[in-house]
Amino acid sequence: MDLGIRGRKAIVCAASKGLGRACAVSLAHEGVDLVITARTAEVLECTADEIRKATGVRVAAVPGDITTDAGRAAALAACPEPDILVNNAGGPPPGDFRDWDRETWIRAINANMLTPIFMIRAVVDGMISRRFGRIVNITSASVKSPIPTLGMSNGARAGLTGFVAGLARQVARHNVSINNLLPGPFLTDRLRSTASSTSGKTVDEVIAERAAGTPAGRVGDPAELGDACAFLCGAHAGFIVGQNLLLDGGAFNATLG
Ligand code: NAP
Repeated sequence: MDLGIRGRKAIVCAASKGLGRACAVSLAHEGVDLVITARTAEVLECTADEIRKATGVRVAAVPGDITTDAGRAAALAACPEPDILVNNAGGPPPGDFRDWDRETWIRAINANMLTPIFMIRAVVDGMISRRFGRIVNITSASVKSPIPTLGMSNGARAGLTGFVAGLARQVARHNVSINNLLPGPFLTDRLRSTASSTSGKTVDEVIAERAAGTPAGRVGDPAELGDACAFLCGAHAGFIVGQNLLLDGGAFNATLG
């Protein structure tokens, strides 16, 4: 299926590794030129180079922390009029809410709620005036089914989801669609690091347990989420508005979402 976005321009945030990288790769395979961001410049440049070689699209690597004004300004300076925006950032640490002070909460809310909102604010009016825009936010399965140790993720991402639900319906008539992807367990560094903080078990044991906990019997391949992202960014996805697409191997047990 041709997604009809060849030659479009995308900003993919937090994309040197993991799910962000997978979104960048899938968009590149559709012929989309990219600006990708991450904090570690060498890893980011390496990823950019691999995507250029594999797909032939233009890829600008813009190092920076996307949760800061400076990081967002740098990404937007490299691509002031994106057709596509993929919002992503590192997730908050696990723990017990009794240990989290105000500053800790503010960091999580900034990274996982306010940062995507400020990126959307910077690009959405241009998308409206050009009558094409696709925005995908990587959130988490924890929005639908809270994960006890990830209270900050449960809370901050639910805030983003509520905001997006309203805005998506205000911009849809201009062929600007905003949707969220909700990953369950995907095999990335993030999964490995959250697995390693679970006491008394090896990382492999924890990942095997996560895999066994899904009806699919496995954890997700980041490329699967990347392809779902590219589909939502496609020319034919303009009627998909304000949706929360769960990619969790069936782990959320419900007849209707
Ligand atoms: P990952 O493999 O650790 O990759 C994170 C990527 O984001 C890296 O490229 C990292 O590069 C970049 N990054 C992190 N913080 C950044 C920042 N402040 N500014 C710019 N770039 C930043 O993580 P992942 O598994 O892909 O997770 C992506 C998001 O999905 C996270 O929010 C995570 O909580 C969420 N999620 C993941 C899963 C899962 O199973 N993997 C499930 C549910 C939700 P640098 O470190 O160099 O900046």
